[in-house]
Amino acid sequence: MTIQEQYDLLEKTVRGYNPAADFAQIRAAFEFAYKAHDGQKRKSGEPYIIHPLAVAQIVAEELKLDSESIEAALLHDVIEDTPATHEDVAKLFSPTIADLVEGVSKLTRIQYATKEDEQMENLRKMLIAMSKDIRVILIKISDRLHNMRTMEYQSPAKQKQKSLETMEIYAPISHRLGMQRIKWELEDLSLKYLDPIGYEEIVSKLDEKRQEYEDFMQRTQIQIDDRLNELGIQHIVYGRMKHPYSIYRKMFNQNKSLDEIFDLFAFRVVVENVGDCYNVLGVIHDIYKPILGRFKDYIGTPKPNGYQSLHTTVMGTDGIPFEVQIRTREMHEVAEYGVAAHWKYKQNGQGSGTEGRYEWVRRLLENQEGADAEDYIHSLKVDMFADEVFVFTPNGDVQNLPAGATPIDFAYAIHSAVGNRMVGAKVNNRIVTLDHVLKNGDIVEIMTSKNAKGPSRDWMKIAKSSEARSKIRQWFKKEKKDENIANGRAAFEAELKHCGIPMRDVISQENLPGLLKKVAYASLDDMYAAIGYGGFSAQKAVSRMLGELQRIAKQHQQEKQLLDAAEVKPAEEPRPNAPKKVKSEQGIIVEGLDNCLVKFSKCCTPVPGDDIVGFITRGYGVSVHRADCPNASLEKRTQPGQEGRWLKVSWGSDTNDSYPTTLEVICKDRQGLLLDLSAALSTTNTFVLGINSRSTEDQFAMFRIEVRIRDSAQLRSLMNKLNQISGVLKVTRPAG
Ligand code: MN
Repeated sequence: MTIQEQYDLLEKTVRGYNPAADFAQIRAAFEFAYKAHDGQKRKSGEPYIIHPLAVAQIVAEELKLDSESIEAALLHDVIEDTPATHEDVAKLFSPTIADLVEGVSKLTRIQYATKEDEQMENLRKMLIAMSKDIRVILIKISDRLHNMRTMEYQSPAKQKQKSLETMEIYAPISHRLGMQRIKWELEDLSLKYLDPIGYEEIVSKLDEKRQEYEDFMQRTQIQIDDRLNELGIQHIVYGRMKHPYSIYRKMFNQNKSLDEIFDLFAFRVVVENVGDCYNVLGVIHDIYKPILGRFKDYIGTPKPNGYQSLHTTVMGTDGIPFEVQIRTREMHEVAEYGVAAHWKYKQNGQGSGTEGRYEWVRRLLENQEGADAEDYIHSLKVDMFADEVFVFTPNGDVQNLPAGATPIDFAYAIHSAVGNRMVGAKVNNRIVTLDHVLKNGDIVEIMTSKNAKGPSRDWMKIAKSSEARSKIRQWFKKEKKDENIANGRAAFEAELKHCGIPMRDVISQENLPGLLKKVAYASLDDMYAAIGYGGFSAQKAVSRMLGELQRIAKQHQQEKQLLDAAEVKPAEEPRPNAPKKVKSEQGIIVEGLDNCLVKFSKCCTPVPGDDIVGFITRGYGVSVHRADCPNASLEKRTQPGQEGRWLKVSWGSDTNDSYPTTLEVICKDRQGLLLDLSAALSTTNTFVLGINSRSTEDQFAMFRIEVRIRDSAQLRSLMNKLNQISGVLKVTRPAG
């Protein structure tokens, strides 16, 4: 075919599905590319223009894309391989077309080396993220398909390398974009170079049996065709064999021979409407015996990528099983051309403007949730990776970073030692500043030095990834402890001053332990260090301490109030009762003071009727003791510095219903003693809070009984009662 003939075929193909295409522009693109590539030859010796023409032919024939795509396909190598520039293409054609061409060129420039799975996945994502316009990747795949079709002219090394790349990158992307036919062809072509022997074996076996298989397929096709015609169902039926690579995989994975592969043959029936799909299914099951468990209704439940069809496997007349796929014409196009088919439908409708044009992509993606990870077409969404950026290390590894990432993020993603020794960075071989924002496909190189001073604190603000920030923080934490403490202390003191809190309040022996607990640090230096390296902030420290400081201040104030009000003279006896009646707190009148906090001491548990005295505690109001409690003894009351704290308290008329108190009962142990004690408590209607008992070696027992009691009179009568029990030696109220 001459070049002219090939171009005419292209126009004819485009006209076939898109009569409204801009043929003047398509021709202009062809002529521009022709001139630009003039003198260049392919490895086959043919003029270079053959290649862009063939790529455009694939874009038209296989994918049925729009005029812009055809033009871009024709021009796809001019920016990369000829003096033509982006501006030239933008001016002569359109900025969009120039961007498409530039996009394809960028993908071409991506280095590739075979890596572990995760790296491959990142590389695929990077290609799609870089494509921005989905047409870029579609043209790139077409480009790759033509290169694979003509791979025979390349060196064996290049054949292997390109085939591997195709198998690992382009075939999976084609699959995700739903372009099954292209995917199969890419896989078969790759297999041919990756495992020539395996490929030959399958192809030659298929060739050997070709006659037999073809007879079988023809017979079967006629049977189906005839029956459907009889029934007047409009249809197209054709058979196909599994393609070599999928046979290869099955044979390998399942260790089977060619004859053992179940679904070597598949027939496809394409009908006009969904109703006919189910009619045809009935007919097929009538002619052939269906194999149980092999029927799948992807019309009722489409696959995540939008694929729809009825699948069934039946036993043919010769005992050869085969699969039948039944679908409508529209389902068929979607299945065969995937994304490109959706596109075409949109294009034929009124969908215009990029927004509307990509609507289907979005819809398609929305259906992906819960899809098989292998099948996830998420990767197709043009802005799917908007919050990620994919860059290369100098040796071709893909590093995945958050969008907006800088060389600092990159360095720390490689290793913290690289980050800590970084003195500069190169992007695509040019030195950049450390806040340079990385773009998809950039090759990033970090310059390090053993004499590097380490990260600067500003890096923390420049870094986008929390990983980098935390590694920088780690460094400061470890390397600069003294400096951190000094910086942290300065920041903390400034903040304290700002809040009007004197430093002595913080470091006072009395306050410090409580304050450190509030900020959860073991010492002030630890806290300073944390503030210094940025793991904690002075603001947070002060605001957390503030509450505790305020509590302490309030306590001090209350204490002072109590002391002032009590105005206790150094005295042997608490002051005589003031004439004024005061309101009681929990039944206790504290002389001269309203509303002060009152608590009953645990040591002597006073009850109404007991002689009592009060003690002004540090921070907990007035503690009430029995006057005979050792803790309230005369010596205690007159201890230097303490005398001012003792004050007279008395029982008010509005005591509580009951007060907790404790009794100790010492007895000669005997059987049934506890029972008798319990009986005594019960008959006196005593509310018991708890009984503890302890036996001594010499057959004595001590019971500690906690009760609630109204007053000392009730308590005395209970004590009498207990005293009367046989074996009880002594009933006392413990104190001190
Ligand atoms: Mn090319």
